[in-house]
Amino acid sequence: MTITAEHGKGKTLKDAQGDVFRGLEVVEHACGMATLQMGEYVSNVSSGIDTYSIREPLGVCAGICPFNFPAMIPLWMFPVAVTCGNTFVLKPSEKDPGASIILAELAMEAGLPKGVLNIVHGTTDTVNAICDDENIRAISFVGSNTAGMHIYGRAAAKGKRVQSNMGAKNHAVVLPDASMDATLNALVAAGFGAAGQRCMALSTVVFVGDSKLWEEKLVELAKSLKVNSGLEPDADLGPVISKQAKERICKLIQSGVDDGARLLLDGTDIVVPGYERGNFVGPTILTDVRADMECYKEEIFGPVLLCMHADSFDEAIKIVNRNKYGNGASLFTTSGIVARKFQNEIEAGQVGINVPIPVPLPFFSFTGSKASFAGDLNFYGKAGVHFFTQIKTITQQWKDSPGGTGVSLAMPTSQKS
Ligand code: NAD
Repeated sequence: MTITAEHGKGKTLKDAQGDVFRGLEVVEHACGMATLQMGEYVSNVSSGIDTYSIREPLGVCAGICPFNFPAMIPLWMFPVAVTCGNTFVLKPSEKDPGASIILAELAMEAGLPKGVLNIVHGTTDTVNAICDDENIRAISFVGSNTAGMHIYGRAAAKGKRVQSNMGAKNHAVVLPDASMDATLNALVAAGFGAAGQRCMALSTVVFVGDSKLWEEKLVELAKSLKVNSGLEPDADLGPVISKQAKERICKLIQSGVDDGARLLLDGTDIVVPGYERGNFVGPTILTDVRADMECYKEEIFGPVLLCMHADSFDEAIKIVNRNKYGNGASLFTTSGIVARKFQNEIEAGQVGINVPIPVPLPFFSFTGSKASFAGDLNFYGKAGVHFFTQIKTITQQWKDSPGGTGVSLAMPTSQKS
């Protein structure tokens, strides 16, 4: 309820619950993380000498968050960081910082010592201060490409470790053999859920072969969604986060039309009774979209589904791979052989086979790639532990009768001379 209210009644209650529960999965993962922190040990690498490595905390780490999942994204960050032994500075989005405060209170109630989790508020100046602070060793960022690449460059120049999880354009390829009802349900849920304000939202569908019937049914199903205040229990989509966000979304839709796309469903002029001044955008579908259009090149981050067409499966794969982003891509088919080809050839970090939003559970990592990610180590899972720790390697010598061999200036090796 608090998340929905702070989101300007934009996040529906169901989506706000998802926000909390997906975050709690990372807390559960962090509770069982001890074995992921285990080091390595080789005994007797040379006579009387053992070498082992331990994973140590970095010290102070920081997280910079976007508005769209105000509970889940902080929970992607600080539970892993503090379980690895670090302290953490969390900067929530200035648009909805309340959930972070609640999470910090709950963490302290659960026994997190004072000073381990710290919250700072603000915008660009606060972010820049985090990037420049000499005590901060690593920054985890989630948000847009503009901010993410700025933070990546500025913090890396100060010697920090950075993971920037950024924007996306997630595609679904639909083959003629796909199961129609299940696929349409998946496309609509992934395209319009959270009003498209998810980094893993589906923004483009590439139909292989004749798409007329698919598009007709897609429009029919999208029309049945209820657009309302997120506080209404039956709402499927709430308003988008701000007036500026609505204007930007409408501008990109209009640019698509101006560039020759056909508007199959227009949600730009929707009025919701009782909330006439709300920032609502209803489900919108554009078809005949081409790769050179601005609406395709830019992340829209709203309830807008773009439809493209390919004559063959290979052409569909090429379309997806040419896009600069690489968070997720899905395939809808009943053929295992084709699915295997997709898995191997598609250039996206998270692949779904008949799954529209392929976000893995946290014992795997969140593996965005290409322009959707900058850094070397992804969120949570093994990579998350590696991101928040550094390796120390120890070589120890315990001999029964040390000494007596004289001073040797030769390079020590494991070879017996
Ligand atoms: P945003 O980039 O505007 O804000 C994110 C954070 O960066 C905020 O804390 C903000 O204060 C800060 N910030 C914004 N502009 C800045 C600047 N110029 N310099 C320094 N700091 C700046 O993002 P948003 O609108 O809150 O969130 C939406 C974006 O987040 C979308 O692009 C979406 O795809 C992305 N996102 C990505 C993932 C992922 O895992 N890849 C997950 C969720 C959201």
